[in-house]
Amino acid sequence: MNLLDLCAAGRVTGDGAMGTELQRAGLAVGECGDRWNLEQPGRILAIHEAYIAAGSQAIITNSFGSNRWVLGRYGLADRVVAVNRAAAIAARRAAGESVCVLGDIGPCGGFIRPLGDVDPGELEAEFTAQAGALLEGGADGIIVETMSALDELRIAIRAARAAKAPFVVASMAFDRVPNGNLRTMMGVSPEQAAQAALDEGADLVGANCGTHMTAADFERVTAAFRQATSRPIMIQSNAGSPELVDGRAVYRLAPEAFAAGMKGVAAAGANVVGGCCGTTPAHIAALARQLKAGV
Ligand SMILES: [Zn+2]
Repeated sequence: MNLLDLCAAGRVTGDGAMGTELQRAGLAVGECGDRWNLEQPGRILAIHEAYIAAGSQAIITNSFGSNRWVLGRYGLADRVVAVNRAAAIAARRAAGESVCVLGDIGPCGGFIRPLGDVDPGELEAEFTAQAGALLEGGADGIIVETMSALDELRIAIRAARAAKAPFVVASMAFDRVPNGNLRTMMGVSPEQAAQAALDEGADLVGANCGTHMTAADFERVTAAFRQATSRPIMIQSNAGSPELVDGRAVYRLAPEAFAAGMKGVAAAGANVVGGCCGTTPAHIAALARQLKAGV
């Protein structure tokens, strides 16, 4: 199932959060959620199935941190291919033929040279291997998400292309900064993000996650993307801004309020609308009902 075909057919209900659902399923703070692809595949499958039952038409694999740098913190640096392949297999099993599977590539967690010590060539090779394992495991395409640096976004899109992904989504995480502007942690504007994504040949541009982001802020991002491109836009918002409770981020926006907020985002031109941190199957069910009602 190609996400572009789904977009051509109408508004698409995206996925909900994985990380916060893993915590609800018993993952401890500081534990590696991506390890569960190998050790608890049944729990990953159950989360995917819950989102599909709620109405998600495009689910995202549990491989956000499945790169050598992040997995290396948990002693899993040499398991990149196995972890990604297992993530895609679980998602594919839940999705069957009728739901689209997006193979997830998240940030490496470090800074790229000259800012940091991550070698860009090495990163591209690693992301290419990650994308290849996701596609081999059954992902329909690749989503590069929660990116904040333009160089890392570009490298990940190139890697997905090199792995022959049938389509690539490029999604960055914007924050509302004190002066009201929307910028990634690395200072990238929505306009700059869209331009870089299009330069590298991304098929969809997107925004997800972020802090201090209201539904109105996501509408602004969507409008900026719409100015930059006629390609499909994918927006996956958190369930409100995080509050820190006992060392854990808590998201309090209720399902109906979340869905109501996404109404304007869809109206502003988002083709795929879903949730990021803190959203649950109940949020996606409320969203799917609303999108089906024809916003
Ligand atoms: Zn998030």
